[in-house]
Amino acid sequence: MIETFQNYIAGEWVVGSNITIDENPSDLDSPVGKFGVVDAQRTLDAVGAAQKAQPTWAATTPQRRADVLDAIGSEILARKAELGRLLAMEEGKSLSESIGEAARAGQIFKFFAGEALRIPGEWLASTRPGVGIEITREPVGVVGIIAPWNFPLAIPAWKIAPALAYGNTVVFKPAETVPGCAWALAQIISRAGLPQGAFNLVIGSGRTVGQAILDAPGLDALSFTGSVATGNQLLRSAAQRGLKIQLEMGGKNPLIVLADADLDNAVQCAVNGAYFSTGQRCTASSRLIVESAVHDEFVERLQQKLASLKVGPALAEDTDIGPVASQQQFEQDLAYIQIGKDEGATLLWGGEQLDPGPRGYYLQPALFAAEPGHRIATEEIFGPVACVMPADGYDHALALANDTEFGLCAGICTTSLKHATHFKRHAQVGMAMVNLPTAGVDPHVAFGGRKGSSYGAREQGRYAAEFYTTVKTAYTAA
Ligand code: NAD
Repeated sequence: MIETFQNYIAGEWVVGSNITIDENPSDLDSPVGKFGVVDAQRTLDAVGAAQKAQPTWAATTPQRRADVLDAIGSEILARKAELGRLLAMEEGKSLSESIGEAARAGQIFKFFAGEALRIPGEWLASTRPGVGIEITREPVGVVGIIAPWNFPLAIPAWKIAPALAYGNTVVFKPAETVPGCAWALAQIISRAGLPQGAFNLVIGSGRTVGQAILDAPGLDALSFTGSVATGNQLLRSAAQRGLKIQLEMGGKNPLIVLADADLDNAVQCAVNGAYFSTGQRCTASSRLIVESAVHDEFVERLQQKLASLKVGPALAEDTDIGPVASQQQFEQDLAYIQIGKDEGATLLWGGEQLDPGPRGYYLQPALFAAEPGHRIATEEIFGPVACVMPADGYDHALALANDTEFGLCAGICTTSLKHATHFKRHAQVGMAMVNLPTAGVDPHVAFGGRKGSSYGAREQGRYAAEFYTTVKTAYTAA
C-alpha cells in the first residue's frame, strides 16, 4: 500500500481531490505515493486560517518561536536518512546528495531558531531635544511560499523557517512533482507546537492553487522560487495589488578557467557545478569559459571524468548522477540537445538517453562546444547539459561571463590573486566563487542574484529579515 500525501489546512489533514500518482523518476513502475490536490476555495481557507493564527503566533515569546523551530530542525536532522531516501525517490537526486539536502534543511531551521532570539532593533537620539527613536522589526503577516521541485526540502526550509522565526504565518505550495517531501516536512512542522493555522500546506497546480494564493485578499507577502517566466508573471500581478514579493529565478552561470588554474580542481569544479544533482540547480555551471591556452587539455580531462561517472537510479550506491526529475524536464533537456546540434554547436560528449535497468528518465551528461550566441549557451536548460567556450585571456573571459540576462552565481578557477580579486568585484552576480563550484552555498549567509535571476530582498542568513519583517520607527518624547 503506498502512502497518500495529504494537505494541511487550519490544523487538519485534508486528502484533496483528483488523486494522482507521485512518480519515481528512477523507476516509473514503482511510484513514490499518491496525492490529492486542493481547489481555490480550500486555498483561501488556508490563507484565512493563517490570517487568524498570525496575531497569536506573533505574540509568542522569541524563546517559544526558537523552541518550535529548534524542534523542527532536530527532527529533520534525526530523520535525515529517511527523508533523504524519500527525496531521492521523488526527485531523483543521488541518495548522498538527498541526505545532504535533508541535513541542510534541518540546519536551516536550527539557524533560524537562533535568529528568533536575535531580532535586531536600534535606538537613536532624535535631532529634537528629549526625543528618543526606536527602530524595530515586526512580522509582515501572512506569507505565501511557492517553491520549485529541484530542492524539495531545502528551499521550503529556507523560506518557512525565517517566516515563522519573525512571527509570520505561512501558506506553502510545493511543486506538484514533489508532494511527498512537502507532506513529510508538514508532518514534522505540525508536531512542533505551532498554533492551529500558523502553517498550512496546499498541494496543487500553479494555475489554480498558486494563483489563489496570490489573489487571496489576506495575503501580505509572497516568496517565490522557480522559473523566470512564472516569476515575471507573479511580479506583474503583485505590482497591481501592491504585494510585497521576493523572486528567485533562473541562472546561466559561468565558470571561468584561467590558464594558471589547478586543472584537476577546475575539472572537479566543472563536473560538480555542471552535472551533479543532474544539472538541476539554479546555480549550475552551464557555461564553462576556458582560457585558450588550456582549453583543449581542460576539455580532454573533463571528457575523461564524464566517462567515469555512473548515471543510475537515485538509490543505487554507485550512482553519481540520478535521473532527470520528470518527463517534462527530460523532454526539455532532449529538445535543447537537439537545438544545440541544429544551431551548429559540436556535441563533444554524451547527450544520449540511457537504459540502466528500471524504466526512468536517464540521460548521459552532455558537453557542447558552443558559440556565445547559441541558444544552448544563453538560455537556462536546467539539466545535465553544459557548454564550453574558449576565451582570449581574463578580460575576454569576464566579458563573456557577464554577457547574460542572468546574474545568480559565477565562478573562477585561478591561482592569480589579482584576477580572483578583480573577478569578485566585477562579476555581475549575487554570488561569486573562487576555486569552488558555482553550486553549493552555506545556509547561514545571503543567497540570491541580480539582473534577471532575482527580484527583491535576499534570502537566507540574517538578510532574510529584510523580506520577512517590516520596519517601524517609533518616536517618544521623554
Ligand atoms: P516553475 O516556475 O514552473 O514552478 C515553480 C513554482 O511555481 C511551482 O510550485 C509551480 O506550481 C508554481 N507556479 C507555476 N505557475 C504559477 C502561476 N501562474 N501562479 C502561481 N504559481 C505558479 O519552476 P520549476 O520548473 O518548478 O523550477 C525550475 C526553475 O526554478 C528553474 O528556472 C530554476 O532556475 C529555478 N530555481 C531557482 C532557484 C533560485 O534560488 N534562484 C532555486 C531553485 C530553482
